[in-house]
Amino acid sequence: MSTQKKLGRYSIGTGDRFAHQAKAQLQACIQALHAGVEVTPVWNKSNREHRIIGSEPSSVRQAADAAVQEMGWTGSYFCDADHITLPTVDRFLSSCDFYTIDVADAIGKPAAADAVNGFVDRHANLIGDIGLIGSTETFSITEATLRTTAKKYLAAVQQAGSVYRHIAAAKGEGSFLPEISMDETDVAQTPVELLLILVAIADEGIPIQTIAPKFSGRFNKGVDYVGDVVQFEREFGLDIAAIAYAVEHFGLPQSLKLSVHSGSDKFSIYAPIYRTMQRLDAGVHLKTAGTTWLEELIGLAEAGGDGLALAREIYAEALVHKDELCAPYATVIDIDPAQLPSVATVAAWTSAQFTEALRHVQSAPGYNSSFRQLLHVGFKIAAKMGDRYLRLLEDNETIIARNVTENLFDRHIAPVFLGRAS
Ligand SMILES: [Zn+2]
Repeated sequence: MSTQKKLGRYSIGTGDRFAHQAKAQLQACIQALHAGVEVTPVWNKSNREHRIIGSEPSSVRQAADAAVQEMGWTGSYFCDADHITLPTVDRFLSSCDFYTIDVADAIGKPAAADAVNGFVDRHANLIGDIGLIGSTETFSITEATLRTTAKKYLAAVQQAGSVYRHIAAAKGEGSFLPEISMDETDVAQTPVELLLILVAIADEGIPIQTIAPKFSGRFNKGVDYVGDVVQFEREFGLDIAAIAYAVEHFGLPQSLKLSVHSGSDKFSIYAPIYRTMQRLDAGVHLKTAGTTWLEELIGLAEAGGDGLALAREIYAEALVHKDELCAPYATVIDIDPAQLPSVATVAAWTSAQFTEALRHVQSAPGYNSSFRQLLHVGFKIAAKMGDRYLRLLEDNETIIARNVTENLFDRHIAPVFLGRAS
């Protein structure tokens, strides 16, 4: 039997759209280590991102390997095939060792009646009240709960099983980290549903390392959480309790933990996440996606000259192509067109004005979340500029790297893993 690869207790998923910031991102993990906590870096990139940028998964692996080598990082690190499905996984097989198996589309698809009946019969002993660690609440499960949940999620878990076995056949069991994601859907999963989903995953024999449910509240791209923070904290604790129960009673890996697909920058839930992990002695994988690209723009704008000119030009183009850029992200962005400055206004902005509008410091008077969200989805414009954009990244490497590291460490790692207010 092969041993299953494990992710550390604390890990952070970072996106690096143009594969130029791996060193600066790793530097944030090195700072965390100096501050006393090991946070495993995971570089994630989805098929959609690769298509928009025109890149290959091997470029993520090369950038990660080179950064680790150059910076002398001796801890583990991973490359995540983010949100893959059976039709898209193959191009990731040689270069990734972390697979986020996305089955959100299969939620609600009917599973065979005998599979549903089998699940209900097999797990009839869950019927009743289940006590939970760290909580005075209980999960009340009836036969109807088992049946309804199986009808809603069993097909999705079976689909995850076939993708998992496809990857395992190619790479060998145990040689990669499997994650299952259900976050890209409209309705949040309740902690009771999460428990039953995990039971089904155990039945399916997937040695899952992380699970990404959809939490309640809105997780818009690149901006803060919108929702009830108190409710989130309660739900997050119950999800951890559900995992602990499934690990203890259904033989799932001890290292199993939640993966928070944050869409980046959910600052207001970071303190609740930290508190809950401390209280329940649990870890987390925090996936932060693509705001590193915004730090590149901030660095270019801060540099002035050609850098600032290019940042202004990217905004002007993004404004012209607003509808087309926003379409793929319609459900996860909230741009108020009235808040978007005109091209002429931005053309007159200084470095300080541009960076203040863009940098995610909500207390800054010039901060503009609509401006930020439009640029967040505007990376296609920079991708089209090709070498012109990449050359400016290289020319301004130092100033950009400083912004990338500072953003990742001060605004994400420190509040989530060290409990420091950002
Ligand atoms: Zn996700």
